[in-house]
Amino acid sequence: MWLLIAIGCGGTRSTAVSAPPLPEQRATNVILLIGDGMGLAQITAGMYRNGNRLHLESFEVVGLHKTYAADNLVTDSAAGATAFACGVKTYNGAIGVNVDTMAVTTLLEEAEARGMATGLAATSTIVHATPAAFVAHVAHRHMYEDIAEWFLRNEVDCFVGGGWKYFAERQKDQRNLIDELEQKGYVVGSWRTHRFADMPLDASANMAFFTAQDDPPRKLDGRDDYLIDAATRLPRFLKQRSDKGFFLMIEGSQIDWGGHAVDAAYIVSEMIEFDEAIGRALAFAKEDGHTLVVVTADHETGGFSINPGSTQDTIVAGFSSFYDADHKRGAHTAAMVPVFAWGPGAELFRGIYENTAIHDKIRQALGWQ
Ligand code: MG
Ligand code: ZN
Repeated sequence: MWLLIAIGCGGTRSTAVSAPPLPEQRATNVILLIGDGMGLAQITAGMYRNGNRLHLESFEVVGLHKTYAADNLVTDSAAGATAFACGVKTYNGAIGVNVDTMAVTTLLEEAEARGMATGLAATSTIVHATPAAFVAHVAHRHMYEDIAEWFLRNEVDCFVGGGWKYFAERQKDQRNLIDELEQKGYVVGSWRTHRFADMPLDASANMAFFTAQDDPPRKLDGRDDYLIDAATRLPRFLKQRSDKGFFLMIEGSQIDWGGHAVDAAYIVSEMIEFDEAIGRALAFAKEDGHTLVVVTADHETGGFSINPGSTQDTIVAGFSSFYDADHKRGAHTAAMVPVFAWGPGAELFRGIYENTAIHDKIRQALGWQ
């Protein structure tokens, strides 16, 4: 088909060669897993410290993406996630808006409009930049209470993460968004009474679970396995919620925070947990057969390096990045980051491309025109 179009145009340009390959089979479901700040050294350190094994090794397709933002070669997580969610390069701090602060439809919103089920899970607050960019449209990432309001407008089928206070203990108004979610039919649970693992999931209603009042604790400080549980339970829940498929984003949020803290043990513990969540998503996809799993990062954090003297048990860490003002270490860096894909449409993710192409390739894998 591509070849005929190229000949019909009468030119000698190699349209037939450069046209993107169509996926051999369409994906019905997509699970996008984002390791915030997860560069190659973070993955490598996690792999060695995990007995030289990661679930990431079983992915059949690997690519790289260019992480830069519209206004800065070094992206932040807001512009990075907006590139994935909306397919546009925007300014650092932007949540679901373009460089002119105009809202751009997200993959999650498009999935909702097509009757698919949708979900979000993160080890940060659920209103933090990465998950926020899939549901909200605000000019700046720190507008947490405004971002929370978007969860009432978009009606994500399920979400799991911290940030209770932005829903229930608001500064800007007297609204209680937990009550409003329940009035809309959500079953809402929280860490105050039980773990996410012990919350019954009834696919006849939307579900929200809050894992902390604000930021969930570090894995090193005893955060439970809720992200792994989410990766295990939410695909099954979402599959029951719609026969048109689902879109689920799962974020390992604190790999980034380990890089900002210039703390290798923090990075490694978060990386290994995130990889276990990846393993659970992959196990679902292998059983299901119609699910595309894409794993990537928004950017690298720390300029993290594994230095001479390291062993598989002990990482001698370096952190080469710094902020301009005071040379404080632990900034984001502009290095390309890897993309791993498995399932129908995975082959689209080979090669080197812009971060915005993640959005376009997911749409293509789903057969969206
Ligand atoms: Mg994040
Ligand atoms: Zn960061």
